[in-house]
Amino acid sequence: MTPIVAIVGRPNVGKSTLFNRFAGQDLAIVFDEPGVTRERHYADAHLHGRDITLIDTGGFDPLSKDPLGVGIVRHVEAAIAEADAILCILDGTAPPTSADREAVALLRRSKKPVLYAANKADDQNKALVANDLYTLGVDRIFPISATHGRGLHELEASLVALLPPPAGEPSDDENKGLPRVAIVGRPNAGKSSLFNRLAGEERALVDARPGTTVDTVDTRVVLAGQAAILVDTAGVRRKTKVDTGVESASVMRAIRAVGRADVVVVLCDATLPVAEQDARLLGLAADRGRAVIIGLSKADLLDRDARSKVSQAARDTMHFATWATTVLLSARTGEGVAELEKTIVTAYQAFHRRVGTGELNRFFRDVLERTPPPTHGGKAPRLYYVTQAETAPPVFVVMCNAPEAVKASYQRFVANQIRKFFGFDYVPVLVHFRGRTKK
Ligand code: GDP
Ligand code: GDP
Repeated sequence: MTPIVAIVGRPNVGKSTLFNRFAGQDLAIVFDEPGVTRERHYADAHLHGRDITLIDTGGFDPLSKDPLGVGIVRHVEAAIAEADAILCILDGTAPPTSADREAVALLRRSKKPVLYAANKADDQNKALVANDLYTLGVDRIFPISATHGRGLHELEASLVALLPPPAGEPSDDENKGLPRVAIVGRPNAGKSSLFNRLAGEERALVDARPGTTVDTVDTRVVLAGQAAILVDTAGVRRKTKVDTGVESASVMRAIRAVGRADVVVVLCDATLPVAEQDARLLGLAADRGRAVIIGLSKADLLDRDARSKVSQAARDTMHFATWATTVLLSARTGEGVAELEKTIVTAYQAFHRRVGTGELNRFFRDVLERTPPPTHGGKAPRLYYVTQAETAPPVFVVMCNAPEAVKASYQRFVANQIRKFFGFDYVPVLVHFRGRTKK
């Protein structure tokens, strides 16, 4: 499990500059959907030999809406509840403000590993100014410059040293090979209600894992006759005050759950318009290559007219993962829940499916040879064969003479054809084109 590091601090101290520097190229993601740019406030990074997931909490509260930095306290609370470690960024060129004091007081009281950095210490003189910040009463402040890269090496090393040791996967042999399902969604989407519906009488604690600073709890359930695990449901059951509305908290929680799941149910309240936040959670699951189902909850509150529109509306907003399906459901009446269970099982099977060579050859003959890539830049790419390199999610490799001449539109075409041909429903399909000189 990858530890989550939250970057907190007042607006304008340089959080996103630091985030971008640490995240680097990992911000770019390529999947089989058309290339839409989505704003991302979380990213995987590799620091000093450790993989971590970074969250830029400031990104969730645009500066314009929060000129006084009031939001910092809410984000600090969210980070204390959900992150494994916290990086608190201060402005090294200015005296501490009351928002800084409040944040630091909260952080010092928490049991979380926290590092403090004074940013914009671009040179030695400015680094001295940063010393004023010691009036905040913390033991150590790292002078850094996010734009110049100054002091970052030391900060990274200390951060990695603070992280909980890498925990091995749980030794729950009994649960090996079972579908792992995460339910994510905004506060009040109906996650706990759905959880209770799915868990029913089977509900039992199977794995309260120590070794991480944030509890993760898995629950064994039966879905459409198939044993399965609902992962990371602690947050769903244990309501904390940060649940009420801090988006960075639900994203941190979702990242943790998605990381441990095969199938992700993104639950949206169907009585509300689908929001940016829903799309972000879907994007998170899609980027991480999980099978995804969009659950539209509270169907019992919709009239016939609204019912017919809601699925389409959700798909329109979340168009970047066209392969994700929607299921209209009600945890209250139980409507749609059986369908959701069946869909989860189908998605799980597709997620782990391996296609045989014979079938792939047939696909190659019937589809790729019939519709070869168009000529591009004077080059006619020639395809040789296709293999499945990985499952969970499925990754295919098409060998060809000129991969650079295969356009993105053709790559998407191949991914979609593979999905249709082999029934990879509700899962992302990744296709790489690789060069090989002709024998
Ligand atoms: P955020 O609101 O905390 O995410 O802050 P930003 O990352 O958007 O940075 C706010 C401003 O500070 C931008 O104009 C940055 O270019 C600038 N900035 C960030 N880091 C540094 C730094 O290390 N040195 C200097 N001089 N400016 C910086
Ligand atoms: P969570 O914050 O995502 O875990 O959401 P909850 O499960 O706590 O539900 C939030 C609110 O929506 C509660 O008042 C629930 O009673 C209500 N709710 C959840 N599911 C349904 C549903 O299927 N139908 C109706 N009418 N209300 C629901």
